[in-house]
Amino acid sequence: MIRPLAQKTIFNIQPYVPGKPIDEVKRELGLKSVIKLASNENPYGPSPRALQALKRAARDINRYPDGDCFYLRQALAKRWQVPPQQLVFGNGSDEIIVLAVRVFVNPGDEVIIADPSFLIYGIAARIAGADVKAIPLKDFSYDLAGMQKAVTGKTRIIFLGNPDNPSGQYLTQKQLEHFLNGLRENIIVFIDEAYYEYVRPKDYADSLGLLKKHKNIIVTRTFSKMYGLAGLRIGYGVAGEEITDCLNRIREPFNVNSLAQAAALACLADQPYYRTIARKIERQREVLYRGARKLGLKYVESYTNFVLIDMRQDASGIAKALLGKGVIVRDMSFWGLKQFIRVTIGTETENKRFLNALTQILSFGQNLPRRTVL
Ligand SMILES: *Cc1c(COP(=O)(O)O)cnc(C)c1O
Repeated sequence: MIRPLAQKTIFNIQPYVPGKPIDEVKRELGLKSVIKLASNENPYGPSPRALQALKRAARDINRYPDGDCFYLRQALAKRWQVPPQQLVFGNGSDEIIVLAVRVFVNPGDEVIIADPSFLIYGIAARIAGADVKAIPLKDFSYDLAGMQKAVTGKTRIIFLGNPDNPSGQYLTQKQLEHFLNGLRENIIVFIDEAYYEYVRPKDYADSLGLLKKHKNIIVTRTFSKMYGLAGLRIGYGVAGEEITDCLNRIREPFNVNSLAQAAALACLADQPYYRTIARKIERQREVLYRGARKLGLKYVESYTNFVLIDMRQDASGIAKALLGKGVIVRDMSFWGLKQFIRVTIGTETENKRFLNALTQILSFGQNLPRRTVL
């Protein structure tokens, strides 16, 4: 038998389980029409300008991509008013998470995350052989005091999803500032802003502003969510130059492909398109809230393009029944939220279909495991 080197570590890792692809569900269940509300993608797709840019860029795919992402780097540096050297690009922002762990975490070090939180933080840290301290959310919000208390001399990275997935909650400027002020400056605070473009409240933390004072921050953003490029895999990090220099040293030289670079650049140049989408998603979020309330279900108010809904019973049966009706949502039991599903806000038509399917399932108990009535 072939044995991996770090056997103990490798076999202790629960692999990431992604939302099911539409085609897989069609194939397996023999369904003609399937909608996916499971991976927080933008249901409207990217700006039409991105599709044009892709056509042009496709002519040059015989060439290696620009490993430095020159044009995109310039555009983002200008947009966020940061020096170009403070940017680092990844094959999705997931890659920046992995790179950061590889740079800063040795086996036996400690990494602090929230529980539940985005799964990749814990997975990446465990792969590196770290001890992961998962601090339970309080009423779906970060227990920052608890996270601070968990810090020891071995703590190397703290992951903050802002807003986090699956909670959909954000940290305010005051909270984040207070947290950073109370930490040793040699602990990396990784602030994952995958849903940055969706957050509206004025007190949302200005992490790039805080970067000027706190050199231990890494902020990541992505083109996968609002920008609609999940399939191309491109995200970026912003950090002090000392940190980006380290991350750049260990990344693969051509980690971001040329199509992704071209499309991302075109997306950035079409902000009006994305403002329209943000408004649509906000309206549809209200539609989902209303639909849940009508069914007597509670939900966690979200600042993102997904909503956690409490099914008031084991939710995996409901997720399965929805799948049978061609609606893919996330069953949250893997995150320890057994009664919850997470549903991505789709188009008007998709959300209607989801709510209709859910209404049918809840009123008729279709396909649900029988419950004993006392
Ligand atoms: C989706 C998601 C990401 C990862 O996005 P990439 O596609 O790898 O850029 C990162 N963090 C959170 C919290 C997410 O939900």
